[in-house]
Amino acid sequence: MKITVFSKINFVLAALIFLDVGVNAGSAKATCSILFKDVNIVSMTARGLMEHQDLIISESTISSITPTSSGPRQDCKQVIEGNGQYLSPGLVNAHIHLNDQQELVKYLEKGITSVRTMNGTPEILQLRDRVLNGDVVGPTIVVASPITSEKFNSGWRLVATVDEISAALEEYKAAGYDLVKFYELSEENYTALAKKAKALGLPIAGHYPIRDEVFRDHDQLMKVLNSGARSLEHIEEVAQILALNADADGQIDLYLDEIRARNIVLTTILNRLIKRDPDYDYQPAFTFLKKSVEAGVFVALGTDSSGVSSLGIFPGITIHRELALLKQAGLTSHQVLMIATIGGARALGDDNVGVVAEGKTADLLLLRENPLVNLSTLESPIVIVHRGRVAKFED
Ligand SMILES: [Zn+2]
Repeated sequence: MKITVFSKINFVLAALIFLDVGVNAGSAKATCSILFKDVNIVSMTARGLMEHQDLIISESTISSITPTSSGPRQDCKQVIEGNGQYLSPGLVNAHIHLNDQQELVKYLEKGITSVRTMNGTPEILQLRDRVLNGDVVGPTIVVASPITSEKFNSGWRLVATVDEISAALEEYKAAGYDLVKFYELSEENYTALAKKAKALGLPIAGHYPIRDEVFRDHDQLMKVLNSGARSLEHIEEVAQILALNADADGQIDLYLDEIRARNIVLTTILNRLIKRDPDYDYQPAFTFLKKSVEAGVFVALGTDSSGVSSLGIFPGITIHRELALLKQAGLTSHQVLMIATIGGARALGDDNVGVVAEGKTADLLLLRENPLVNLSTLESPIVIVHRGRVAKFED
């Protein structure tokens, strides 16, 4: 609870500071809200690791990155001495199940500055907006519709016909959901959902839409890949479906090329598998994950975490178990961090997060060590900045 209190105090301070901050008309330089002095930037862009830099935040945006100078400092509201420590993008958890406001700080204090929650409600839509307004402390939230499926579960949206799908999507659009979450659907209903979503300008994402034995042959699989889905969740399920249609390894590579060509993001939610089955054999999922990354497919990371999880997959810390599993799969630390930043940004549909670069959202973690050398340094950021506001300082 102590951290929560600190976070709130810092947000209040940050909010007060922002009252003074405006774009300085007539000045070439944007107003400086925060200066990070002498940091090594893990940019996650083609610029790679940028050593000894000064980074300036203006309101919610990174406004400049320049080599550290000993010259006169720009007048800044707040200066954070980096002393050669590392600044990385905030992490993205692209698959969670958010239930209430109390869970938000648990994500943010573990370095997660954006989440995508996969079964939205009107209350969660309100929370999303309150975070954006700065009224509530938490990561940026992208909110999927209620789970839309022919199979019923509590809180899901049950649909049986094309007309019901059409009505559900109209409602989602009017309510302001960011995307449609689909689950088990027949071929006819899935096709209708994809078409309607496209007409409404709503992205779609979900489990591979298996129902009974449909969507399992090559033509059906290509229909799913051609349906405009932004992401397919649970990479191990995708691996299984592709394997059903592949008589040789080379066929999997061809499917991965198709997935990459369509910019479909595959979401890993590996940590949850061992919770379901302590003897779960990760090797097939690991092999497929590595192949996907090497094929240039965008992979995002999710945890299925929830404050009311029956599997014990709780908000916040679980992301670091997922990162460790990705490493265990044989990926490099750079590939793992790509998944936790840029891959996640792709799943969110927000290319302003997941990188440290001028003009991008100021979602940043100040870290003791280089995360590309030691990923576990991400577990305990020294400073967390969310949309230009300091969310946590260590004592
Ligand atoms: Zn889920």
